[in-house]
Amino acid sequence: MSDSQKFVLPALPYGASDLAPTISSDTVDLHYGKHHQAYFNMLNNFADGTKFMDMELDQVVVESFQDGHKKVFNNAGQAWNHILYWEQMAPGGSNSPQGKLLEKINEAFGDFDTFKTDFTQQAVGVFGSGWAWLVEKDGKLELRGLPNAENPLAHGEHALMGIDVWEHAYYLDYKNVRPDYVKAVLENLINWDFVADRLG
Ligand code: MN
Repeated sequence: MSDSQKFVLPALPYGASDLAPTISSDTVDLHYGKHHQAYFNMLNNFADGTKFMDMELDQVVVESFQDGHKKVFNNAGQAWNHILYWEQMAPGGSNSPQGKLLEKINEAFGDFDTFKTDFTQQAVGVFGSGWAWLVEKDGKLELRGLPNAENPLAHGEHALMGIDVWEHAYYLDYKNVRPDYVKAVLENLINWDFVADRLG
C-alpha cells in the first residue's frame, strides 16, 4: 500500500438496498460509493506528505481542525462522520432506546417523542450543508447542529449519533423535504443499541 492510499473507506456494514424504503439503494450507491469514497480519496491527496499520514483518522480530525488545515479537515471530518452514519443504522428496522440510554433521553428531553421532535428541529435549523448530532457531555445528552464537516470530535465532545443533512443525503428520496428524511431515519433506521453502546 502506498502512502497515498493510507486512509481506506470501510466496507458498508450491510447491502446497499438494506436501508430501503427509508433510504433507497440509489441514494446509498451515490452517498457511500461516490461521496464517502471521494472524501477518502481527497483526504489521501491532501494529507500526502504531511504529518497527518502518521495519524489515525480520529486524530487527523482533531489536529487538522485545531491547525485550521481546512482541506485535510473537511475531508477527514466527512470520512469520519460517514463511518458513524452508516454504522448507526439498523437495516430492516429500528428498535427503541432502552435502559440507561432511555433514562438519559428522558432526563434531557422529557421523553423519546420530544427528543425526536427536538432533534428534527435541530437538523432543520442547520443552514445549508451540515450535520445534526446527539452528544454526551458530562454524562448528559445534548444536541448540536454543525456546518459542513464539523463534528463533536473536532470540538472535544463525544458523539453518540449524527444525521447528515447535506442535500446529497436526502434529495433523491425526499426532494427538498429535510424534516421528513430526518424523522424517517430517527423512526425507522437508527440502531439504538449501537447508540447506547457509545455512552461513556
Ligand atoms: Mn453525506
